[in-house]
Amino acid sequence: MENKKVYIETLGCQMNKSDAERMYGMLEHIGYTQTENPKEADMLIINTCSIRQLSEDKAYSQIGVWGKWKGVSINEKGTRVYNPYPKIVFAGCVAQQGGKNILKRAPYVDLVLGTQRLYELPNLVKRIEAGERVVSVEEKPFEESEIQINRVKSINAWVPIMEGCNNFCTYCIVPYTRGRERSRKPELILAEVKKALSEGFKEITLLGQNVDSYGKDLPEGQNLSWLLRQINAIEGKFRIRFVTNYPTDITDEVIDTVIELDKVCEYFHIPMQSGDDYILKKMNRRYDYATYKKICDHIRSRVKDVTITSDFIAGFPGETEEQFENTLKAMTELELDYSNTASYSPREKTVAAKWVDLYIPEDVKTERLARLNEHNRACCLASNKKYLGREMEVLVENFEVRKNGDKVITGRTRNNKIVHIPCDRDLTGEFINVRITNARTWYLNGELI
Ligand code: SF4
Repeated sequence: MENKKVYIETLGCQMNKSDAERMYGMLEHIGYTQTENPKEADMLIINTCSIRQLSEDKAYSQIGVWGKWKGVSINEKGTRVYNPYPKIVFAGCVAQQGGKNILKRAPYVDLVLGTQRLYELPNLVKRIEAGERVVSVEEKPFEESEIQINRVKSINAWVPIMEGCNNFCTYCIVPYTRGRERSRKPELILAEVKKALSEGFKEITLLGQNVDSYGKDLPEGQNLSWLLRQINAIEGKFRIRFVTNYPTDITDEVIDTVIELDKVCEYFHIPMQSGDDYILKKMNRRYDYATYKKICDHIRSRVKDVTITSDFIAGFPGETEEQFENTLKAMTELELDYSNTASYSPREKTVAAKWVDLYIPEDVKTERLARLNEHNRACCLASNKKYLGREMEVLVENFEVRKNGDKVITGRTRNNKIVHIPCDRDLTGEFINVRITNARTWYLNGELI
């Protein structure tokens, strides 16, 4: 087939978005071009997320729609069979979990692609093009070839440095879907970073479920701060970020690196999940509130203007009102700059999902989440107000002409604050200095200086 087109629908986290860029790159090599219109695609890929039930349901509902597009025909034996095109690929975390059951549940799916089999995509596509239905989900050591990446045009390039997690928090599906921690080879990471910079990207964000574990399976000395130093040494003006940190795994060496290296930004994303010691224990998190606070205080005392963001879950099984209030208190007391919030969603296979008797009613979870969000908004506004009148460096990400004719550029400070600035020119990709003139809940306003 000439001029084959592929459409990828990506759900969930940044790691999935990064995987989608890799899929596009690999598929381009075997003759596919990307389309934004799923109806004209020869291959439809859903890149799934299993962190919440809602996301999983969305994936199945989407392929249900695509299955109908595929249509059915009757073969010579009089049996109904699905038409060969468009090919449907079910990839990502739900694929990893569901394996061959997905082929039974959705008989129009051609390929189930697990998270650790991403780099086999070109060969697997050839097999489904030849008419096979394939499931490829077995766990395997991190392997990759010299692949092309077809990045979404932007300022920031996401670069995975490791995958998987060994922590087994009782609510989390990631260790089951992404496997155990595996570090990418530094030479591949550095090559990818250099290529992204040569293509014009101005910010590199290193990705991993637990970036502090980077290098544990590599020769001694090759850890996160070592990697940051290698990247910082690359010539040119650009920024470096990394996510996500596990609270008790953040080392002084990494904090020193953030202070010392000019390109590494003053930003830490450190999920706390609950402010209550009993719930933290039930979550199998390896710290209590006092320890987490000590870590934040330590980072703040050392890194000027640092932004610390976090994640919280409302309505974990058995959470009492008092325990939930400890989370609200923690969020305020720690002066967190921003938090991702979610209500607890039971995930099959995880330990907490078995505590059905302790499940919090949906209406209580919803109400707690609303209060958590209210606290989050207050924390964000308080954090943003600290920067009123300050001069800050902004990397411009976007230029827009608004409906009322106003021309505005938007960018981020080193510590990840979003700033809108009136400006007649498109300065996307440039580093500019601004004065902060106004602080809103989710962003700052500034003026060029
Ligand atoms: S550390 Fe993060 S990714 Fe790992 S199990 Fe816990 S919540 Fe999931």
